[in-house]
Amino acid sequence: MPVETLKIDNARFILTLDPKRTIIQDGSIVIEGQTVTQVGKAKELANAGASRVIDAREMVVTPGFFDGHLHISYAHAVRGIFPDDVADRLTTVFQLQSVMTEEEEYHTSLLAIIELLKNGTTCFLDPGTTKFPDACMQAYEDSGCRIVLGEGVTDIPEPRKLPLYSTEEAISRMESTIKKYDHRLNGRIRAWAMPFSLSNCTAELLKGAKKLADQYGTGMTLHHTIGPKMRQGFLEQHGKLPTEYLEEIGALGPNVLLAHVMGLDDAEIDCLARSRTGVVMCPSNVLKQGGGIKENGKMPELLAKGVNVALGSDSANSSNHLDMVRSMNLAACLYKDARQNTKMVPAEQALEMGTLMGARALGLGDGLGSIEVGKKADLVLFDTRRPEWRSLFNPVNNLIYNADGRSVHTVIVDGRVVVEATRQSFVDEWSLMQKVHEIGQNLMARTGVSIPQRWPVL
Ligand SMILES: [Zn+2]
Repeated sequence: MPVETLKIDNARFILTLDPKRTIIQDGSIVIEGQTVTQVGKAKELANAGASRVIDAREMVVTPGFFDGHLHISYAHAVRGIFPDDVADRLTTVFQLQSVMTEEEEYHTSLLAIIELLKNGTTCFLDPGTTKFPDACMQAYEDSGCRIVLGEGVTDIPEPRKLPLYSTEEAISRMESTIKKYDHRLNGRIRAWAMPFSLSNCTAELLKGAKKLADQYGTGMTLHHTIGPKMRQGFLEQHGKLPTEYLEEIGALGPNVLLAHVMGLDDAEIDCLARSRTGVVMCPSNVLKQGGGIKENGKMPELLAKGVNVALGSDSANSSNHLDMVRSMNLAACLYKDARQNTKMVPAEQALEMGTLMGARALGLGDGLGSIEVGKKADLVLFDTRRPEWRSLFNPVNNLIYNADGRSVHTVIVDGRVVVEATRQSFVDEWSLMQKVHEIGQNLMARTGVSIPQRWPVL
């Protein structure tokens, strides 16, 4: 069979994110199969034909975005149920998720993937909370997304009833998951070791997870601390701060991704820098959950030390949006306020975190994260024929400070057009949304969860 060719023709701007961070005005991209084979000025590529041409006049093209920490499973079914004064959100979250069936999880995951793709996120990491990856495989296949998955495990009991096993069993389950899923769907799936968090995994389990990541050439992610209280508790229990503890047991490294990382001190930031450990921060979640950016957020300090920082949205029921453009906007704005310094996290650096650094954090930096010859064709086309994009002189500033995911027009993953003129064609979207609403009603009925709204509903 001849290889399919696709040309993105005459784009207003291409933000390549190549090593020089070249922005090509009036540019074209040629894709053969899954791979970018030419990138350059439109007039220089005028003779490059393709079986399909997308007219990208007035479009800004970026690499696909990476969401480095997203619990995708249950959230869409009961999105928005938690009022701001809810007492214990997470216990209810785990309670609802624990009763979810395969079919329900397939539908809720599919809706989340549609939201991600339509906002330009082409790859995400689910930190081990999908219960039925076999059922969800169909959603990953149909949608064409990329995903890093794994089985979240713990070996220390706690009240939230996370999946609990003996240390040995937890390690063997993670290993089976890696063996079963890694590299499936033409390489679009990667499987990692996913011990849930520092507070409910023993050192043996964390060491075992790191060993698996090394042995199988994959990665490992876990929830790191989310604030001073947790850090203090950890210090009292272990005599060390969390990052130093991880370094001591040999659980840091370039194939490790720590989530949240709020409240680090300078010594811990040095630990991360020298071990080349990646981190993923979830600005929208921190902001909504009152995480204390000013005191506990160390994004500029991490970046200054060369730590690879990815962005995540955590969950559709904690932040609650899955729009990486909004997350990049927050990353760029929050620290200007927190440090009262407009030089903090420039727009360009925020875009790097959503693309290049996101790809590196997920171990995919060699083939993804920028628009370069030889890299995979994961691209987002923004339609700038909208008021928020105009006037258009500096496309990076306009993307990060003016726009959001609603101007995403076309999305390409692995050379396949998965969103075209703002629409996807792999599922009847309205029927799916109705189905997911019904699933939410059923989940709440089965668990007896009923959370009144703050205002009376007649
Ligand atoms: Zn999480």
